[in-house]
Amino acid sequence: MNKTETPDIINSSVYDVEKIRSDFPILQTKVHGKPLVYLDNAATSQKPISVIMKAQEYYSSMNSNIHRGVHALSQVSTEAYEGARIKIKKFINALGKNEIIFTRGTTESINLVAQSYGRMNFNEGDEVIISQMEHHSNIVPWQMICDEKGAKLKVIPINDNGEIIFEEYEKLINNRTKFVSIVYVSNSLGTVNPVKQIIDLAHQNNIPVLVDAAQAVNHLPIDVQDLHCDFLAFSGHKIYGPTGIGVLYGKVNLLDAMPPYQGGGDMISSVTFEKTIYNELPYKFEAGTPNIAGAIGLGEAIDYVQKIGIDNINKHEKELLDYATAAVAEIPSLKIIGTAKNKVSVLSFVLDDIHPHDIGTMLDFEGVAIRTGHHCTQPVMDRFGIPATSRASFAMYNTKEEVDVLIKGIKKIIEVFG
Ligand code: PMP
Repeated sequence: MNKTETPDIINSSVYDVEKIRSDFPILQTKVHGKPLVYLDNAATSQKPISVIMKAQEYYSSMNSNIHRGVHALSQVSTEAYEGARIKIKKFINALGKNEIIFTRGTTESINLVAQSYGRMNFNEGDEVIISQMEHHSNIVPWQMICDEKGAKLKVIPINDNGEIIFEEYEKLINNRTKFVSIVYVSNSLGTVNPVKQIIDLAHQNNIPVLVDAAQAVNHLPIDVQDLHCDFLAFSGHKIYGPTGIGVLYGKVNLLDAMPPYQGGGDMISSVTFEKTIYNELPYKFEAGTPNIAGAIGLGEAIDYVQKIGIDNINKHEKELLDYATAAVAEIPSLKIIGTAKNKVSVLSFVLDDIHPHDIGTMLDFEGVAIRTGHHCTQPVMDRFGIPATSRASFAMYNTKEEVDVLIKGIKKIIEVFG
């Protein structure tokens, strides 16, 4: 179990946020002459120096293409790349390293499953269930394959708090349902979904489930065996690792039965013009030269997260979210979008008569980086009847003082707009 292997060097009662901050060089940046207050972590997280240095170390002393190389450098880089796979396997408690496929990120992981599993298994009239709070990357790949196959996309509605209506999910399941793909943590609302319950119900009906863990893996402990999920996707860059690298976890029996997603080098064991024999897992799904430095950097990021302890991170972020939520409750013209009982990291809000774009631009002048827009969840915006929100999202290195700067900035904007 990954939890017992996690060396939590920082006890939650002595969480040393200043020490953590000193590991992230970018946090020393000034923006418009003001100290950077980086609250756009749901879009991408900053990187600790160990991850940055790892990329440099890779290119300056290891760079070589992996697999099949007999020379020393190729063996070193292969070991480092495969070592990262093992770290990820342990981190999410997968059964074997062949269940860990490196991809470009969550988006590619979901497309892989839709194009490979979906193309093989969906037929005319079949149904795929997602929810109303999905990121576009957990909507569009399913729409594409459903269109191709004549299957239908079914959507679990959400309530006014931004929570899945479980009874509606129960009603959607029937003998045409072939797949469920669900987000663990909503990037625009912060809602933590009851994925275990969702998976249990699907499994009672022999339906496989993919969990989009893009916003979960950096805030919550993930144990794929405990969740029993069939697939799980996440991106390196949201968990303090590099961009352009991500993971698809899949149960070995499902992955084994699936056709390759892309063809090319490395995914084969032999090729003739008459017939190609595909490579074993996980290489069958890793065509071409991968993002070697990215994978190694992701392994380093996971080491860093484990050093701090995901439970400690979660507790710290919860304190920040509670603190920020209490502070904005005193601003009458501010409305929080996403008030689920179980939430992490994300504070999405609208201000009466002030466009989110103006809020984002004015906060930027205070050095505060937040995200404004639909956050690639347009159906969520439609659900709440708004075009966009302003979103502050917290990470392990944020502080209450930074929340104070955000709140001060919001109050100033309200004053300016009268
Ligand atoms: N799902 C969720 C919930 C996300 O927040 C994101 C990124 N914003 C994605 C999927 C897509 O991740 P990526 O762009 O890294 O592939």
